[in-house]
Amino acid sequence: MAYVIPEPSIAALPVAGTDDLFPVRRVYCVGRNYAAHAREMGGDPTREPPFFFMKPADALQPVAGVEVTDHPYPPKTGNYHFEVEMVVALAKGGRDIPVDKALDHVFGYAIGLDMTRRDLQDEAKQLRRPWELGKAADLSGPVGLLHPASKIGHPASGSITLAVEGVVRQKADLSDMIWSVAEQIAYLSSYFELAPGDVIFSGTPEGVGAVTQGQTMTAAVEGLGEIRLRVV
Ligand code: MN
Repeated sequence: MAYVIPEPSIAALPVAGTDDLFPVRRVYCVGRNYAAHAREMGGDPTREPPFFFMKPADALQPVAGVEVTDHPYPPKTGNYHFEVEMVVALAKGGRDIPVDKALDHVFGYAIGLDMTRRDLQDEAKQLRRPWELGKAADLSGPVGLLHPASKIGHPASGSITLAVEGVVRQKADLSDMIWSVAEQIAYLSSYFELAPGDVIFSGTPEGVGAVTQGQTMTAAVEGLGEIRLRVV
């Protein structure tokens, strides 16, 4: 049997220090996982726990190396926001994964940006509509090289930062997360059967803001290097 149309390509992330690729199945994203960011978005982290949404796998933009990579400004927005996040890639799946076993399912970690058409997301919130127009723009998920946990371990603390034109706009510590990576995996696996290839954006700290064409963003997570993107 043959496919009746050209076969869609599989989204994939380059693995640091190798010529290998990590194939991506699903992209889960956690919202409001840093208390100060929850507050800046109008939430109360003591009353509302974090939550999940998704991006399409083909919305990822693999960013190899430290060279400046062009990132296209998407259509239909006048308020395109950066959100720096640590990205978690799963090597193993499962249902109802216990927290104390969850990190055994991780392949590795990378720097990511959950780029957001904030004006469209805000409109969706007001109209009680879903978030895809805000969150799922083409190439709205730049991700740097994937660093295997077998080499770097499981980062639970360390700085996470984003600068625009060299000015630091977001700066926090991974230990500020409300839900740890293990808790995110356990929680998600109670709602979905997770599988190898699943990726989780683990939330952004406070300081999100807009970029315009011509600006360069530098995102860094301690132990994972940095990525640089010029908005074009
Ligand atoms: Mn986010």
